[in-house]
Amino acid sequence: MKLYLASGNAHKAQEFQALADASGAEMQVLSARSLGGMPSVVEDTGTFVGNARKKAHALRVLAPADAWVLADDSGLCVDALSGAPGVESAYYAGPQSDGAANLAKLLHVLRDVPGERRRAHFVCVLVLLSPTGKEQIFEGRCNGTLAEEARGDHGFGYDPIFIPDGRKKSLAEMSEAQKNALSHRARAWMELRKALVG
Ligand code: IMP
Repeated sequence: MKLYLASGNAHKAQEFQALADASGAEMQVLSARSLGGMPSVVEDTGTFVGNARKKAHALRVLAPADAWVLADDSGLCVDALSGAPGVESAYYAGPQSDGAANLAKLLHVLRDVPGERRRAHFVCVLVLLSPTGKEQIFEGRCNGTLAEEARGDHGFGYDPIFIPDGRKKSLAEMSEAQKNALSHRARAWMELRKALVG
């Protein structure tokens, strides 16, 4: 089964391919690049589901009629910040910001927040469109605590400060396989796989 991923990010397609392979699903995950590129989408709905739906439907128009389309939206929700940065995670430090700037801003904003109040969770929402236009929505969540300083070189974004529940290492100190065993994306993927493959 071929899934076209509504993202211009080739790394993301590889990551979903790794999740599909690890879950034993016979799926080929293709990036939107193979359809000429991801159409530009303004992620302005204010929700993970709304943004993912927008991306999925934008790619549906370009995908072959018999293709499946998958879109994701994800972010970090911090309890002490009433869920921020949430859907704004990619742009927390401003429209041109990168992962390092976003991380630095979050550490600064939380500088006076003590350990027991540094609870947070990652969310990943997947929207799957079937060739007939049926829409299915899956969600995965990873709960944890935010460290007071960055640790580790792997991963991206907020990984260096996120310590998943029950672990001592940050996500950035884990291998890709270790992160894929517990991440919000992996959990959302397992829900999707269950619905498709059983
Ligand atoms: P998007 O879903 O690719 O738009 O990601 C939104 C933003 O959420 C990213 O730019 C990161 O800042 C953050 N994020 C999402 N997933 C992760 C993760 O697995 N690790 C670290 N940061 C993440």
